[in-house]
Amino acid sequence: MSALSQGKSVAFVTMGCAKNEVDSDHMALRLRNAGYFIADDPEQADVVVVNTCCFIQAATEESIEAILEVAGYESIASGASRLVVAGCMPARYGADLEGELPEASSFVPCASEESIVEVVDGMLGVERLPGDGAAVLVGAGTEEAKVSAYVKISDGCDRFCAYCTIPYIRGRYHSFSEQDIIAEVQRNVDLGAREIVLIAQDTGRWGQDFEEPSSLAQLMANLAERFEGTWFRVMYIQPEGVTDDLVECVASHDNICSYFDIPFQHANERVLRSMNRRGSAHSFLELVSTIRERIPDVTLRTTLIAGYPGETEEEFEELLDFIEEADLDYVGVFAYSREEGTRSYDLDGQIDEEEKVRRAQAVRDLADTLSSARIARRVGSTADVVVCGFEEDGQPFGRAMCQAPDVDGVTYVDGGEVGDVVTVRIEDTLFYEMEGSVIG
Ligand code: SF4
Repeated sequence: MSALSQGKSVAFVTMGCAKNEVDSDHMALRLRNAGYFIADDPEQADVVVVNTCCFIQAATEESIEAILEVAGYESIASGASRLVVAGCMPARYGADLEGELPEASSFVPCASEESIVEVVDGMLGVERLPGDGAAVLVGAGTEEAKVSAYVKISDGCDRFCAYCTIPYIRGRYHSFSEQDIIAEVQRNVDLGAREIVLIAQDTGRWGQDFEEPSSLAQLMANLAERFEGTWFRVMYIQPEGVTDDLVECVASHDNICSYFDIPFQHANERVLRSMNRRGSAHSFLELVSTIRERIPDVTLRTTLIAGYPGETEEEFEELLDFIEEADLDYVGVFAYSREEGTRSYDLDGQIDEEEKVRRAQAVRDLADTLSSARIARRVGSTADVVVCGFEEDGQPFGRAMCQAPDVDGVTYVDGGEVGDVVTVRIEDTLFYEMEGSVIG
């Protein structure tokens, strides 16, 4: 470890989804292993890394706002500290971005994030001897404990959905090795994680690109059996990735959350084909009923797009009918965002903004009604809850297996310490939140 990097601090401002959080954590870990202090307050840091998101226009605008806010700090504006723009925006916009943001000292696209130590060293004039401060993800004891930790199992995507920028930003699909995933799970468990959430752009494809192919079901079973006291949850399983083996694996392991997050995106077959996706309302309903037959208390989440180019009023009605019939536990919805460089950008039948927002809101309203009724039916049941923190008034809250971090609700409880898993009788619900008493 270089003595010169000690005493220097780096802060992260992370935009976007959990996958970006993981990337920021990895960059922070490399920097920490190389002797840097990871600061909480970006205004006090020697270097601020803004890890950006730009999968849709709204996310790009939020990232630009964050960059400009950081650029306005006295420390950055005076040149005393440096600004690094990392992640999806440099990957998508490349050299164009460098011309637009002269406030930034460096740009680090997703594919180059492993070089963060060299970039920061270069800015601060830190020199290392060969082998000094090598940035390997071995774990540093000073990292903050997290009750729930995200672990990325692959990156990139080969599906090229017609509306999506991710394959252009993140590149081709590649699974991470099982060995690396186990090491990353172990690192988080050692830090105190009680729940591991496996994420990727396309988790269900994990292992199929290996010379000796494997599967998500195999990975989940191995992890669940190796880390018996840890909850496992998997997000973003494309419909084709929900295999019988995976359903069986989830059903047969108590420490794998009975929770499937399946982005259907739409239900009308013509719209799905135009999106370059497979499936139909019929096949999705069959999938939902197959899962529920095998796991009656399963929790199901999806993501949908409303107002896709050419979506007729009838096709939109079919989407609403599907939502009603599928009666899912959680539904996330986006109004279609027209992104340059994607195939749907040039499609005829672009729908005006107001109408897209109206359709998305109609999906949201219907989903809110159905979801809150489903959650209310949990009153009187018992659930294991992992305690995640305390409200300002001191009341503990946590999450049951039916509640994924960041996207679903929480459960308020009347006892327990952070990291405890307590058994709770659910006594009340309010929209997406539950409340209950500890009974064990
Ligand atoms: S599967 Fe997801 S990440 Fe991949 S192209 Fe489709 S929407 Fe984008």
